[in-house]
Amino acid sequence: MEVIGMKKSGDNGLTEELWEAIVRNDASYDGRFIYAVETTGICCRPSCKSRVPNKNNVRVFRSVGEALSAGFRPCKRCKPTGEKLPDQEWVAQISACIDRNYNEALTLDVLADMCHGSPYHLHRTFKRIKGMTPVEYIQQTRVSRAIDYLTRSNKSVADIASTVGLPNTPYFITLFKKKTGHTPADFRRINRNGMEG
Ligand SMILES: [Zn+2]
Repeated sequence: MEVIGMKKSGDNGLTEELWEAIVRNDASYDGRFIYAVETTGICCRPSCKSRVPNKNNVRVFRSVGEALSAGFRPCKRCKPTGEKLPDQEWVAQISACIDRNYNEALTLDVLADMCHGSPYHLHRTFKRIKGMTPVEYIQQTRVSRAIDYLTRSNKSVADIASTVGLPNTPYFITLFKKKTGHTPADFRRINRNGMEG
């Protein structure tokens, strides 16, 4: 088999040839390289039918072993290690993906796309293992980050709302109150008073 020159364009090992193989899901490149996506922490075979990643977030490895030692997890869809990923690990992967991307417009569909499963299957598996739905986990992550900002910064409520991925401030306030029992402003006041007193 021809050895692909890992000529570096930038420092991610991604040549134009390899990028084309990823975009075309070219199975003839399977076994010749593995690509990983920084934003999801997942590595794939070139032929994977997952969404085409942002080119800037792609890293290329010669083998799946290298990708795993660099901290990436194997994709559940294309299974670059040749084994089925246990659901426990998949859910850990989904949670990590939420932890990294909670500040983006993250819906179940977007998440399913990033984590390489159908929305329905992802929702069910996540709920069975975590005891809460992916959407609930996203909300919980956003509220807990918002609590950090409210108690440790002077950012305005609207700023905090958009920083945690909820640019619609009234919606953020409603969600925050539902989860904590207080509006963000009250929560901040109570906590600051508590700290002073
Ligand atoms: Zn894949």
